[in-house]
Amino acid sequence: MVGANSKVGHLIREGVKANPTTFTEVDTVIIGGGISGLVAGRELHKNQKPFLLLELDKEVGGNAAFGSNKTSEYPWGAHYIPIPNNYLIEYLQFLEEEGIIQGYDENQLPIYKEEYVCFDSQERLFINGKWQEGLVPKFGLLAEDEAKVASFLKLMEVLKEKKGSDGKWIFDIPIANSSKDEEWLKLDQITMIEWLKQQPFFNSYLENYINYCTRDDFGTSIYECSAWIGLHYFAARKGKGANVKSDDVITWPEGNGFLVKKLREKIKDQIRTNALVTEVKPVEAGIKIAVLNPINNVSTGFLCKQLIIATPQFITNRIWEHKERAALVKSHFEYVPWLVANINCSTPLEISGAPLSWDNVCYSSLSLGYVNATHQLLNQKISEHNFTLYIPLSEKDAKAQRQKAYETPIEKWKELVLQEMKRVYPNFESNIISIEILLWGHAMVKPKPGLVHGPVLDSLAKSPDPRIHFAHTDLAGISIFEEAFYQGLNAAKNCLNG
Ligand SMILES: Cc1cc2nc3c(=O)[nH]c(=O)nc-3n(C[C@H](O)[C@H](O)[C@H](O)COP(=O)(O)OP(=O)(O)OC[C@H]3O[C@@H](n4cnc5c(N)ncnc54)[C@H](O)[C@@H]3O)c2cc1C
Repeated sequence: MVGANSKVGHLIREGVKANPTTFTEVDTVIIGGGISGLVAGRELHKNQKPFLLLELDKEVGGNAAFGSNKTSEYPWGAHYIPIPNNYLIEYLQFLEEEGIIQGYDENQLPIYKEEYVCFDSQERLFINGKWQEGLVPKFGLLAEDEAKVASFLKLMEVLKEKKGSDGKWIFDIPIANSSKDEEWLKLDQITMIEWLKQQPFFNSYLENYINYCTRDDFGTSIYECSAWIGLHYFAARKGKGANVKSDDVITWPEGNGFLVKKLREKIKDQIRTNALVTEVKPVEAGIKIAVLNPINNVSTGFLCKQLIIATPQFITNRIWEHKERAALVKSHFEYVPWLVANINCSTPLEISGAPLSWDNVCYSSLSLGYVNATHQLLNQKISEHNFTLYIPLSEKDAKAQRQKAYETPIEKWKELVLQEMKRVYPNFESNIISIEILLWGHAMVKPKPGLVHGPVLDSLAKSPDPRIHFAHTDLAGISIFEEAFYQGLNAAKNCLNG
């Protein structure tokens, strides 16, 4: 069991407070070293604004954390980025700066570094007793069912190109750029399953497939996820590249840990890890920040002119007392726990069908399948792998799921992991070298109806103190890299504008 660091995180819940006697002056402080906080740091650094980034864990990365063993590096959370939409200028610039985009062709389409584009075979699905290529169900489907799946996908292609009465894309990334056309926003009032059941192409294969997709990106089942968000999954991405297909993904053995390393590198001198912020107190002279080092229990204090809080809202509430914000978060935000297992193993015996791929999904299962971290290595012979298995604990009552997860012993988790893997590898025990398990207690917020287009996110994004700015993916309502990037960038810009 390797984390997450619940002991340290729960210190805040238990009311433990750092008790600094002196406060060192710093221009700007960023609390939280996930992608949002790191991107904010990158922007401040580019603009030569002095800052300090405080992260509670022993390493930055947050949900994009990664690990390693003698076989390879592997992700503990976020593991890929899709091909970005071509008009996200700052994001494309970032990818270019980090060598992921290597230039542009004569049509101004980005040229991606081949080594980072997911190698063949990208995805496979175990369905009706066989591995098929791709994740959209097709093997063993009746012609009638296949036609229904095709109709749904065709509609998604139409929605990708659709704009609202305000001239904006109906579904865009970041979500804040999407159209506010009331006709389409109505979809945020119902669940994805309600919408699907109204369609002529509704069938159990689509129900299953879309449920996999919403659980995969949002940790939320089709039965709880907003229909607007469910459709956003399929229709918001319109990216094109010179040497990629639009459904290709960019990935590395360590997943988005690669991007964490890139972001960390340039600002490493401004990062303080093992720095748990327990209290934020705006005073006339600035903002006081109390920090506890959970390793040696030493308290430190900072006094800053501006502050970026890049922590999830349930934590922001505990470190900065603000009754109205706290009430909104409590009544509207529900955080899904996730289990991630990294299994170091020898090459297992494959059941016939499509070969071992980067993403390997079993139709209608509890897990979302496993990603093969060694897939992206350049070695010609790979005899050991790291399979990263993802299980969102996405049953309806997230709090009960979290409590159950907290109390479940490691042996039970191992049984569950094994049970999932044995669906496709009956003799998998003989391949296992080690299993490591990480439980994210509050991995991501559920985009239930009314969250993304209701009044809550707008209220929470507005700061009651002009010196304090917020940045976290949960303020977007969905947890994806691009949203974290723009959350961080916008908070830094607000900060730079004073
Ligand atoms: C299992 C899983 C898989 C995912 N897969 C993908 C994927 O493949 N692609 C994708 O785009 N997205 C994926 N995501 C979404 C991912 O959450 C986002 O892409 C992004 O990494 C979120 O960054 P963030 O900075 O907004 O939040 P976080 O990662 O939550 O960062 C918040 C940071 O604040 C720190 N912190 C909290 N409290 C304090 C405190 N009091 N003091 C100091 N520091 C504090 C935390 O330790 C953490 O580092 C996945 C998420 C999970 C959980």
